Amino acid sequence: ENENLRLLILENISQDAVAHFRQQGYHVDHSTKAMSEDELVEKIGQYHAIGIRSKTKITERVLKSASKLLVIGCFCIGTNQVDLGAAARAGIPVFNSPFSNSRSVAELVMAEVVALSRQLFERSYELRTGIWNKQSKGCWEVRGKTLGIVGYGHIGSQLSVLAEAFGMRVVFYDIINIMPLGSARQLDTLAHLLSESDFVTLHVPELPETINMISKEQLAQMKKGSYLINNARGKVVDIPALVDALQSKHVAGAALDVFPSEPGSNGAPFDDQLNSWASVLRALPNVILTPHIGGSTEEAQTMIGQEVSQALSRYLNFGSTNGAVNFPEVDLRAIPADVVSQIRICHVHKNQPGVLKQVNDALSPYNVEKQYSDSKGEIAYVMADIADVSFKELPNLKERISSTDANILT
Ligand code: NAD
Repeated sequence: ENENLRLLILENISQDAVAHFRQQGYHVDHSTKAMSEDELVEKIGQYHAIGIRSKTKITERVLKSASKLLVIGCFCIGTNQVDLGAAARAGIPVFNSPFSNSRSVAELVMAEVVALSRQLFERSYELRTGIWNKQSKGCWEVRGKTLGIVGYGHIGSQLSVLAEAFGMRVVFYDIINIMPLGSARQLDTLAHLLSESDFVTLHVPELPETINMISKEQLAQMKKGSYLINNARGKVVDIPALVDALQSKHVAGAALDVFPSEPGSNGAPFDDQLNSWASVLRALPNVILTPHIGGSTEEAQTMIGQEVSQALSRYLNFGSTNGAVNFPEVDLRAIPADVVSQIRICHVHKNQPGVLKQVNDALSPYNVEKQYSDSKGEIAYVMADIADVSFKELPNLKERISSTDANILT
């Protein structure tokens, strides 16, 4: 009966995702453009799910008009375009795809390691301006050099494998103990990593404790002639301190894909008005500057399409909220298709005392095969599989569970 569920898919979302929804039998309305708040307010009332990227804003006003909306899919990394709290209060989980582009970032880092080590961008720039400058001084192979990875999560660990395939030694620093891949070694302190590495690459999230994590003191701890790569978040590096280290040649080169302030659209200037040091940085040799493209590949877009479309259909079909950013994460194994006598109750409610007792009282005449509940902030979610319930009892059961004053959605 999936054709009764209407999905609104906006912006340039991968065609694979649209195909996945159509295969599942949903009714899909697809437009490649974003919608304004007014357009959404007018149209969203007909839809059970919406898929967006970063340009469509789902505000509290939009959510108030979304009387049938069950779930929101952000086909991107960020979720700032959605009022996550208002969505949760309305019982609407929001899914995104935080890790689909890990491989793309790791590959870019490998390219930067080689490009910095061979002064590739300087030679290319010179030749474009008509200057032939063949030289080997200060240019190195990366084989046998040490790559220091700060943050050994999804990206850092992928990178570890690629770097070893290049013949590099890999060391990493992370706040948690992580099983090293291949022959990588975890080091006990950041200072230890900085003093051992020929290349330092950052893969930590932006948190209060990672802001300016690489500043004057840490740059001084780096080996003379080593390189710094930042594809994580702009505020992790104190850029004026890096400019000093590059000018004094203590640091031989840097690659930066992220900046404390970034232009909001393509074509917008990257200048001193945005970041006071921009023109100084732009003029430095052996510095690779890229416009936050670490994860920007066709493959990453396809994977985002697959991951988010699967998350939406897992929620619509089975109630699973694994991976939701604003919601308690609850999941039970799918009821096998040949078990016809079981049904699944999914109940979102305000996180307040006594609700589970009321729910369980309503379920008490039946055999509860499995039950799982969790809460996040003001919202709680319980899922229960019950056996031997006849379809004609369902409206009554639903009425009992949803009649509590804590009910958000049943
Ligand atoms: P992740 O959450 O998988 O891994 C982050 C790792 O950093 C974790 O292992 C964590 O324990 C560690 N960590 C946290 N605080 C730390 C600290 N103070 N010191 C040392 N380690 C610390 O994240 P990920 O997917 O690998 O992404 C890493 C970063 O890359 C994020 O900032 C993300 O926003 C950024 N990113 C950038 C792009 C791009 O286009 N340039 C694309 C994707 C991700």
